[in-house]
Amino acid sequence: LDVYIAPHVNIHGERKGVITVLHDITNIRRLEKMRSEFVANVSHELKTPVTSLIGFTETLLDGAMYDEEVAKKFLKIIHDESVRLNRLISDILLISKVEQEGLPLKLEEIDMVSVIEECVDTVQEELTKKQLQLSMPERGEVRFEADRDRLKQIILNLVSNAIMYTPPGGKIRIDAADRGEEVHFVIEDTGIGIAKKDIPRIFERFYRVDKARSRNSGGTGLGLAIVKHLVESHHGKIHVESEPGVGSKFTIVFPKKQNRIG
Ligand code: ADP
Repeated sequence: LDVYIAPHVNIHGERKGVITVLHDITNIRRLEKMRSEFVANVSHELKTPVTSLIGFTETLLDGAMYDEEVAKKFLKIIHDESVRLNRLISDILLISKVEQEGLPLKLEEIDMVSVIEECVDTVQEELTKKQLQLSMPERGEVRFEADRDRLKQIILNLVSNAIMYTPPGGKIRIDAADRGEEVHFVIEDTGIGIAKKDIPRIFERFYRVDKARSRNSGGTGLGLAIVKHLVESHHGKIHVESEPGVGSKFTIVFPKKQNRIG
């Protein structure tokens, strides 16, 4: 609270009392705090892969490059860390764009099932590599109004997580359904699950239940924060049910039409 107190003097110079101005700055302070925390988090997150890049290249230059096997191993790490760094930068740019200006949506009538199929195509290799069984929506279209690229981003982030957090041989079920004024998207996996206490936090930027696991699999900790923003910018709602050791289920409910909601 910003408090400003000044004597109230009338035109004859007589003191008539005091004027007190109370200005609620809690919100401004809160935003400032969030922003500086975000900058600190971003710097920390960027520093980790860069430190590892410097470390491994220095070791190579110091002589490790002459041992072909070691060199190959280190180059693979350098490559993977660079890819993750690149993804991190794109995610940071995207989330700051989404949070600060709000993202203008390119709305069009789209079929959710065809977007799901496109997403699955891009992760097919990982699915096969982990021998994950995938079940897709039953035949048929599920049409609604949305931004195609953003919807793709939402689905891709959730599918990538399901792959990342499900042990080899597990199952992933994706479903899309037309429900009157709404459309529902569901993705369910038989993965490691999420503890009850962590569920409310997984949509926070950079929150990861297991930092090392996420990092080793190329995670940025921003995927679900981005998903939540994009779902909300479509006036949708996302909901999670999960049980450790059993699996997780993410459900998104979108309104069919955006213009009815202002
Ligand atoms: P990350 O890049 O770490 O995956 P996300 O924002 O996408 O970041 O997810 C945040 C955290 O939520 C993850 O680190 C993980 O702990 C948890 N999580 C997300 N999806 C799943 C899932 N399908 N199964 C289990 N845990 C998950």
